[in-house]
Amino acid sequence: MRGLYIGRFQPFHNGHKAVAEYIAEEADELIVGIGSPQISHEPLHPFTAGERILMITQSLADLKIPYYVLPVTDVYRNAIWVSHVISMVPKFDVVYSSNPQVIRLFEEAGIEVHSPPMYDRDRLSGTAIRELMKYGGNWEELIPKEAAEVIRSIGGIRRIQQISQSDE
Ligand code: ATP
Ligand code: MG
Repeated sequence: MRGLYIGRFQPFHNGHKAVAEYIAEEADELIVGIGSPQISHEPLHPFTAGERILMITQSLADLKIPYYVLPVTDVYRNAIWVSHVISMVPKFDVVYSSNPQVIRLFEEAGIEVHSPPMYDRDRLSGTAIRELMKYGGNWEELIPKEAAEVIRSIGGIRRIQQISQSDE
């Protein structure tokens, strides 16, 4: 059984990694789909698709099933989004998501959806982690060390702080 896990992963954090490990308990292969891959260098979307591919691929090196990390471009049209996703990735049997809109869209298309548990959601959320990065908090303990290394290597903290400023 091949599972699809889709998200924006801005950045990939320990909650996402816990979900991948949960999926590896019941699936034989995992596709990680990176949403909004074309958006980067914005406060809500600081990292490029390539940077996210590196974060995810390196953080999952010990996963016990094979995995593919692929960009899934936006179509800005929810009613056809599921067909679009299907056209972009290898065939999958089950979608893993806890995002209500994603769940609804796949269920309407008759595709099986499993919702993994939420892990320490107060701290393990992209939004909370981006805030820590912006204000100099301890973000490193919340993401896999391989992802932290990618962020360090591209000057990611300086980037998020700089792009969060205004010219006013
Ligand atoms: P943001 O705050 O930017 O939306 P996020 O942490 O929700 O970031 P996404 O890329 O939106 O990350 O999430 C991808 C998928 O991972 C979604 O299905 C989301 O519900 C799930 N997810 C996010 N955080 C956790 C967590 N701590 N535990 C389990 N699943 C999570
Ligand atoms: Mg989210």
